[in-house]
Amino acid sequence: MRSFVISLLLVSNITIATDEVTPLDTTLSESEQKLIDWVDARHSDILAELKTHVDINTGTANIAGLNDYRELLAKDLSALGFDTKTVSSDPIPVLGCQIEDVQIADHLVASRQGTSSKRLLVNGHMDTVFSKNDEFQSLQVLEDGTLKGPGVADMKGGIVIMLNALRALHAQGLLQKANMTVLLNSDEEIGSLGSRALIEELAQKHDVGLVFEGSYQNLVTRARKGLGQARLKITGREAHAGGAHQEGVSANLELAHKIIAIEKLTDYQRKMTVNTGVMSGGEKRNTVPGCADAYIDLRFPSEKEGEELVESIRAIASSKTMANSKFPDLPKVEAWAVLHRPAKEENAAVDALISEAMGLSVLIGEPIVGTRYSGGGTDGSIAQAVGLPTMDSLGMDGLGAHSTREESTVKSLIARTKLAAIMLARQIEK
Ligand SMILES: [Zn+2]
Repeated sequence: MRSFVISLLLVSNITIATDEVTPLDTTLSESEQKLIDWVDARHSDILAELKTHVDINTGTANIAGLNDYRELLAKDLSALGFDTKTVSSDPIPVLGCQIEDVQIADHLVASRQGTSSKRLLVNGHMDTVFSKNDEFQSLQVLEDGTLKGPGVADMKGGIVIMLNALRALHAQGLLQKANMTVLLNSDEEIGSLGSRALIEELAQKHDVGLVFEGSYQNLVTRARKGLGQARLKITGREAHAGGAHQEGVSANLELAHKIIAIEKLTDYQRKMTVNTGVMSGGEKRNTVPGCADAYIDLRFPSEKEGEELVESIRAIASSKTMANSKFPDLPKVEAWAVLHRPAKEENAAVDALISEAMGLSVLIGEPIVGTRYSGGGTDGSIAQAVGLPTMDSLGMDGLGAHSTREESTVKSLIARTKLAAIMLARQIEK
């Protein structure tokens, strides 16, 4: 039995767990070498395809962009013998001062049935955090092989890797046996609030999950924190800031008290963090603000701490700091909270996949050097929470996700395509 030794080191303020797993001792078969040769003959095509994908803006709110991208992917997967369908999600209602419901583009489900006894769920997301008005819009390929672009690692690169791995298998006749579903959703970057039920339904019908989110410093993620989100809306009373100040109830001031109380819930020792990422209130300098709202991110090591955070936020929301005896019902505080991604715990079946990927990556020439515990989320957490062992981080190795510093390398694009092809082939053979 393999034993894992966890050591903690601090890199760029991120706590990373690396374990001393010896990569699985493995060799490449003749047909696996052919998969590698297939990829090696197509470096420039794969890079050109990545540019096409990155250059289509798919910010979560860009429904037209996501529709175009989904149609392109559906065409490519159909050409590989997959039956494709789209699945829609209802708009997500939002608690806030001037916010409309969030519209979600349709998701793509592509499947094919074969004789393999392992049913594989291959999972990724089409959306990125970059809106169509963002300055960061297209792929740049630098002379040293650095790739910069919106979603290059998170996760257009992962989708291109997955597609080309499937093409390599198809070219060798290795897809025939596959029992596989490819699920590409369009709302991962806002927490998969619309696609969660679809992920859970499909996860329960499969045996192994593979997620093509990126990795970091060639460390793959072994376990992850859970994620939650909360919104607060404060309703006060508008009044002239000079002539009738005492007739007003400031929503901004009440929200300020609430935020200070909520931010105190962060507890690094217990791996619990709270971040008020967005807050707004009022419209005019010379009016007592009548409405204020906030959008808050929650991270936690297990469901218990997640529920504790939600309860604490509800308790803070139910107390009032401000008071105006003329308007005893104000300020009115409303709260909404959801734990949208369960924590992803260590899992023996996933560890076996990681060990296999590590061993193969050494043979391919870009070694995965270890594993880490991540504060970030993936849809693999949702799938694993309903019983599907799911390995993530199979996409591009990258840096700077969710910022204009996002980058990866051509080397990683090619190496991970080879790795994905062999990992998929081995699962299909089971
Ligand atoms: Zn992602």
